[in-house]
Amino acid sequence: MQEKKELIFLDPVCMHNIWGGRKLREEFGYPVEGNDIGECWGISAHPEGDGVVRDGIWQGKKLSEIWEGHPEVFGNLQYDRYPLLTKIIDAQDDLSIQVHPDDAYAREKENGSLGKTECWYIMDCRENATLVIGHNAGSEAELKEMVSEGKWQELIREIPIQKGDFIQIDPGTVHAIKADTLILETQQNSAITYRLYDYGRLQNGKSRELHIDKSLDVITVPARNPEECVKSVNGLPENTLNQLYSCEKYSIFKIDVNGKASFEQKYPFLAASVLEGEGNVAGRQVHKGDHFIIPCGYGTVEMSGGMSLILSTVDSRGAC
Ligand code: ZN
Repeated sequence: MQEKKELIFLDPVCMHNIWGGRKLREEFGYPVEGNDIGECWGISAHPEGDGVVRDGIWQGKKLSEIWEGHPEVFGNLQYDRYPLLTKIIDAQDDLSIQVHPDDAYAREKENGSLGKTECWYIMDCRENATLVIGHNAGSEAELKEMVSEGKWQELIREIPIQKGDFIQIDPGTVHAIKADTLILETQQNSAITYRLYDYGRLQNGKSRELHIDKSLDVITVPARNPEECVKSVNGLPENTLNQLYSCEKYSIFKIDVNGKASFEQKYPFLAASVLEGEGNVAGRQVHKGDHFIIPCGYGTVEMSGGMSLILSTVDSRGAC
């Protein structure tokens, strides 16, 4: 079994989006053509973008195949699929305003899919940047009225953000990032999104499809206070695995390595993404844009160099 305890580096799957740009290719070095690259699915076992292992004993295998065939790598969890999806998103234009269902709604209405709880770490944004989170309707009736009358300016709630903010987006939360925002998103392994409003934009002369009825079904009214969803996580202690957030769906950590760091891998697995800088993990060189999984039972993880990583895992509902 010892030989299975190696880090699993994945080749990400990049996506073309009308709001995408060049940063993921030019700054992160992902080998993908086009100037409309919006998303890098760094750690994904989703059928629309199943990551492939770059090297080592699992070379060439898809993440979903390792999950199916070797559940011990992930701590023998009681989930029917790899539970998370880690993305880097580069928005060069405003994204449409969206909302996601929870597990119960998605299971019933979306063919057994998972719902989508997600969270964002703001890797970069411009000065005085904002994003959309929540809305200003006080009741379901008021929400319906504002939507049907197109009172978007009044309805949509925008809040200021800065680099280093962490934002939790529960199902039912209206949300969108705006132009010039780079984020690391950790979410449930699901692609179910309802588009509420697209700023009236046209794509090839047509507006993109909206999902008003489903959006109204799932939007939480009233919205949570923004202070409950957004926190700055700047200035954390260096060389320590700092927990940023934990909920039923995931736990999120950040480590800023400056010199040497080590911690125990005591979780079912850890999905790690290098946000900036470079260094060494367990004898391997890593740099900005690398994504890897630290398997169950790995033991002590040694890191060195100058770099920042976001890591995620899920509740251990199985034996490790
Ligand atoms: Zn979303």
